[in-house]
Amino acid sequence: MTAPGEKRGPRIAVCIKQVPKAQELQVDPVTKTLKRVGVPSEINPPDQNALETALALREKHGGEIVVLSMGPTSFDESLERAIAMGADRAYLISDRNLGGSDTVPTALTLTRAVEKVGDVDLVLCGEETTDASTGHVGPGIAGHMGIPQITYCSAVSLVDGRVRGVRMIEDGAETWEAPMPCVVTVDFGCNKPRQPTLTGKIRVKRGGLVTHWSAADLGLEPSQIGLKGSPTIVAKVDTVQLPSRQGKIFEEEPTIAVSLLLDALRKDKVIP
Ligand SMILES: Cc1cc2nc3c(=O)[nH]c(=O)nc-3n(C[C@H](O)[C@H](O)[C@H](O)COP(=O)(O)OP(=O)(O)OC[C@H]3O[C@@H](n4cnc5c(N)ncnc54)[C@H](O)[C@@H]3O)c2cc1C
Repeated sequence: MTAPGEKRGPRIAVCIKQVPKAQELQVDPVTKTLKRVGVPSEINPPDQNALETALALREKHGGEIVVLSMGPTSFDESLERAIAMGADRAYLISDRNLGGSDTVPTALTLTRAVEKVGDVDLVLCGEETTDASTGHVGPGIAGHMGIPQITYCSAVSLVDGRVRGVRMIEDGAETWEAPMPCVVTVDFGCNKPRQPTLTGKIRVKRGGLVTHWSAADLGLEPSQIGLKGSPTIVAKVDTVQLPSRQGKIFEEEPTIAVSLLLDALRKDKVIP
């Protein structure tokens, strides 16, 4: 706790989601939904970059890193990994009533968690997830909180009490500044996330650093969350069946084989 008037380092909240490992992504052929149970998971890769950004800012400015996640209790695994990487504490918002939430209640729930943590100066999110990939949640938190946002940042710094974010655009880079509190979303691959340390793993083993909150703990009504609080309706899900590829090997001598290949590609309109 900081005494009134005492200057403290920034309190940074990092939102992380646990996702199925990209190479393990599978669609259930019967339910046509993403298989999540029994699939190896990881911290959403851009969220690892967001956490690394927070750790680097804390090294420079002091302060505290609080990790937030909404999801089932299996997400504890990722929260513990975040603590082992160096986060100070973590909160998991887990509640049956949250099942079926789209990005609007997800962002609202995380907003309420940020508010309950209190005195948060900077909220860091990944640019998007590797499973649902909407990129809505970070901007949604800024919208619910009514605070500025800088999205798709590849570098984040704190300058004179303001947040500075650099965004790579097609023909250069833009630099934006915003007063705190503010939300920043971080590009995938903008830094190299550190590995958990032995000290970090010991802190996890000692326990007590991951707290669970229910929707009611955050003052959320059942009508605001889950399917009832979600304006998006998934009307239909189709699995695309890719046609099998026709492999063809031209076994003639090279000049003829190349000419036959070019003819075949022209015929199929692959090249003009
Ligand atoms: C109608 C509908 C029903 C759905 N029902 C379910 C369901 O029952 N179960 C289910 O798992 N998903 C469900 N989803 C998907 C769910 O809405 C999204 O996974 C969730 O809202 C996050 O969206 P996203 O993955 O696109 O995140 P993005 O907006 O792409 O994420 C951006 C960043 O926000 C942060 N973030 C995102 N999600 C979380 C989180 N949960 N905790 C902490 N930080 C986060 C991360 O920093 C992330 O990098 C449903 C979606 C719809 C449209």
